[in-house]
Amino acid sequence: VALCEAEEAPLARSRPRVLEPRFNWTLFWQFLRPHLLVLGAAIVLALGAALVNVQIPLLLGQLVEIVAKYTRDHAGSFLTESRSLSTHLLLLYGLQGLLTFGYLVLLSRIGERMAVDLRRALFCNLLRQDIEFFDAKKTGQLVSRLTTDVQEFKSSFKLVISQGLRSCTQVAGCLVSLSMLSTRLTLLLMVATPALMGVGTLMGSALRKLSRQCQEQVARATGVADEALGNVRTVRAFAMEQREEERYGAELEGSRCKAEELGRGIALFQGLSNIAFNCMVLGTLFVGGSLVAGQQLTGGDLMSFLVASQTVQRSMANLSILFGQVVRGLSAGARVFEYMTLSPGIPLSGGCSLPREHLRGSITFHNVSFSYPCRPGFPVLRDFSLTLPPGKIVALVGQSGGGKTTVASLLERFYDPTAGVVTLDGQDLRTLDPSWLRSQVIGFISQEPVLFGTTIMENIRFGKVDASDEEVYAAAREANAHEFITSFPEGYNTIVGERGATLSGGQKQRLAIARALIKQPAVLILDEATSALDSESERVVQEALDRASAGRTVLVIAHRLSTVRAAHRIVVMAHGRVCEVGTHEELLKKGGLYSELIRRQALDTPPPEAAQ
Ligand code: ADP
Ligand code: MG
Repeated sequence: VALCEAEEAPLARSRPRVLEPRFNWTLFWQFLRPHLLVLGAAIVLALGAALVNVQIPLLLGQLVEIVAKYTRDHAGSFLTESRSLSTHLLLLYGLQGLLTFGYLVLLSRIGERMAVDLRRALFCNLLRQDIEFFDAKKTGQLVSRLTTDVQEFKSSFKLVISQGLRSCTQVAGCLVSLSMLSTRLTLLLMVATPALMGVGTLMGSALRKLSRQCQEQVARATGVADEALGNVRTVRAFAMEQREEERYGAELEGSRCKAEELGRGIALFQGLSNIAFNCMVLGTLFVGGSLVAGQQLTGGDLMSFLVASQTVQRSMANLSILFGQVVRGLSAGARVFEYMTLSPGIPLSGGCSLPREHLRGSITFHNVSFSYPCRPGFPVLRDFSLTLPPGKIVALVGQSGGGKTTVASLLERFYDPTAGVVTLDGQDLRTLDPSWLRSQVIGFISQEPVLFGTTIMENIRFGKVDASDEEVYAAAREANAHEFITSFPEGYNTIVGERGATLSGGQKQRLAIARALIKQPAVLILDEATSALDSESERVVQEALDRASAGRTVLVIAHRLSTVRAAHRIVVMAHGRVCEVGTHEELLKKGGLYSELIRRQALDTPPPEAAQ
């Protein structure tokens, strides 16, 4: 067994992930492919708009030339001469607006649809992950991948297509017109611009790093808020509001510092680039002016040159901002795609299932060893063997933290054993279809039942999606729940509040029992099912459980020993092993751990007979 453990443990160990996830282009392509046609149309429209933008400075220059002519020798009609040019310009403005409208509409259509697809695919794959995945991850961070990261990725995508395409076309187009207007001025511009761009890129990469840190800090703050708001009752009960405020405040403060630093960086960047741009305008005017004075350039051409070079510079500035957005978008996209490709170790379905009429519900743990994947060095079960005979009730008792719930989790296949096997009717659990196992064979009732924030009807139907109303009523009756449900004004349509917050503990537990019984499970696991209840609710719930236990294989996990006396067999576990097995009387006679536990509890609590 020790050998097995040594061999298998490294495999089961959670793979450490320190690297930033890489962007998955293949997956991105799959999401983009359905929209290629629309994307093509959007690109054509965006290119059209950019080309129109390139035309405009040239026409403006010609108009200025006419104006200049009239300021020199006030002869002829300015209006007639400029009319055709102005109409042309107006038409181009209109066309530009129309094209812009068109490609923005198309892009938003693609972006929104892709975001829906991404969210759906990610959510679907998250739900399929192993339980060990959720042990290691915070819900808030997973949710933020579904919301913030998809949002970020979507807006980057849209920006890259709209702004990126436009800016690139404009830079190229305007450079062509610039060189046609004046080669000398263009060469001058070509020397100055790359130098400035180099400085800008350096600053940009520093800013991007800051921005990433900023995002991470915001995610941390969100995590704190999420935890506190999600567990508001516990926070209230411990009067920890102020502590949580402080914790959230501290994280907010951290993100404020980072964001302000980023803001200062961006401000510096903007200020410097404004100075650079203005200097370039002045330089162009200066050099261009001397060319005009030397009759090598017309005033109108200089005007065209200025407007076009402004377009180039604005586009380049846009591109450098865009570059940052691209990097941010890629890292958001990488985070979105990361969990989309992650495949769970225990699939949701697949494998064989036994026909219901042949299912006996006999369960055996053969020399099972187990440690939680997130705590690999800490064995919870060691060489643990246990048999649950079909149709019999077996009680599992032992100290808190001894691994009883872990046994139930292995049975549900939330985890697989590190060594050894668990069998159902002689079949290794790993060869059976997990979804069949969970939805049809095993009914699990835990100490703290979790209900969903919908109607009672829907909550019970959670156990069997296609159950008829009659089946729901029958399950509720069996669980002693029908009476209290019908006493509510809304009956089965009562909304239970988030996580069932509007019900009492005993009521919640009875709904959970109804939810488990509606599947007609062959095996029932009751994990401390009554231990959170007051004695009156415990009696009602216990009655329901006793009724439900008849004819089923039942594993009762309890630390309150009064509830296990009726079991056919009692198994006492300690240190991850079985240390005693027998009936109540046998174990008492033996005078071992069980009788010790009984003695201790008898001292703590009066026997239940006395309470009634
Ligand atoms: P019991 O139900 O007998 O009180 P559990 O089976 O819940 O005990 O826990 C057994 C041991 O496993 C405990 O030491 C507990 O800290 C640890 N444990 C329980 N759940 C996890 C988990 N998801 N990840 C890591 N360790 C866990
Ligand atoms: Mg437990």
